[in-house]
Amino acid sequence: MTRLRSGSATDIGRVRSSNQDAVFCGEVLFAVADGMGGHAGGEVASRVALEALQEVFDESAPSLDDLVEAVEAANLAVWEQSANDTELSGMGSTLTVLALVDEDGEERLAVANVGDSRAYLRHDGSLMQLTLDHSVVEELVRRGEMTAREAAHNPRRHILTRAIGIEREVDVDTVTIEAVVGDRVLLCSDGLSNEVTDKEIGAVMGRQPDPGRAARELVRLARAHGGSDNTTVVVVDVVEDDDSAPTKGGAGRGRMAVAGGAPGAALTQALPSTQAMPAVRAAGATGRTMAGTVLDDNRPPTHSQSRAPAQSRAPGVPTRTPPAAAQPVSTPPKIRRRITVKVVIFVVLVLAVLGGAIAAVAWFANDSYYVRLSGNRVDIYQGRIGGLLWFKPHVVDKTSLTTSSVLPSRLDDLRNGQQEPSLAAAKRYVSNLAREAASLPGAVTPAPPTTAIGAPSATSYLHPAGGT
Ligand code: MG
Repeated sequence: MTRLRSGSATDIGRVRSSNQDAVFCGEVLFAVADGMGGHAGGEVASRVALEALQEVFDESAPSLDDLVEAVEAANLAVWEQSANDTELSGMGSTLTVLALVDEDGEERLAVANVGDSRAYLRHDGSLMQLTLDHSVVEELVRRGEMTAREAAHNPRRHILTRAIGIEREVDVDTVTIEAVVGDRVLLCSDGLSNEVTDKEIGAVMGRQPDPGRAARELVRLARAHGGSDNTTVVVVDVVEDDDSAPTKGGAGRGRMAVAGGAPGAALTQALPSTQAMPAVRAAGATGRTMAGTVLDDNRPPTHSQSRAPAQSRAPGVPTRTPPAAAQPVSTPPKIRRRITVKVVIFVVLVLAVLGGAIAAVAWFANDSYYVRLSGNRVDIYQGRIGGLLWFKPHVVDKTSLTTSSVLPSRLDDLRNGQQEPSLAAAKRYVSNLAREAASLPGAVTPAPPTTAIGAPSATSYLHPAGGT
């Protein structure tokens, strides 16, 4: 038979003047509520919600329907008190509940939630978020209209689209999963999820075997990251029947806490105040919806049903008080970048490839010559006609040939440039120009072309025809 072992912690944080969170840990029922609204409305709403939840929920043989009915009863209780007391008008609360329920004769873990308090499952070393936040920005994220990074800093992240006590009836999201020994479930208010990353949460959940110590460490982490909101955490372990001894910091049956204190008060080490709450059996209930967002695990919830889609924020749904501007909401995780050997090798290879490509282009651009007119003079250039990229041709040989000493039929070629594969070939071409002109009848033998730049010897390539 499955047993659940729990631990919890709640903290006022470093900014708020009161703790409007409430927490309940029973034997098979666990809950976190985050109240909001009015001078004292938040504290009242979360407390009333948990009281009604326990009164209606039957811990002796609960079903998923019992759980949903208990949440709906909590909603009605807050709504009625809000309607009957003008000072509490508009108050509301989140409510996220975990219960061990019976489903067709099998024990299963059921989670119900309204609002943005969350439930996570740690299974086989991986963390999975079981609930969807009923907030404006999270719904924008789910529709692909906002990134998670943008949502984390959006001022509207405190606006809920669904909450306990705002309307007479409420849609309740639920999910049921197999109760596996060794699994661990976390319930938390947004004071934790806004300050501590899922990765950090998973690390603590994996590192700290004691649920009470894990809860306190997470609350301490939220405080260290800014503590801009009340933070409440419940950690529940699925254990064998003979491994269910109470733990330090854990709550026994029917313990509820509503923590308070002044800003800057020391971290709550355990439930600072507890109150035994009777469990009262209730009739069956209907309705459920589920949502599961896998963080780093493929194990999906094993059961889910949808009662109603998330709706836009109803009039009167309270907005949470945003954190004080002077206090950081959260510290973005620092990303450590290491220059590894692989990175160095990669950079070297990239530079080598780039250098090789540039060298190849340079070689190709300069490994050619052409003969062309420079004004009236015939010159030899090194490079490609017109240039290649940033490699421009340049004169390597200024000959003494001019337009008057070559055949007119060669002038078009010389104006456009006569490409030759080598300097020697270019020089031979120039020599041939001179011989052609000299071979014509009546031609005047031109003086041998001379070299002004880099030519080893003018006579090496100028051999006027008939010049003997
Ligand atoms: Mg909160």
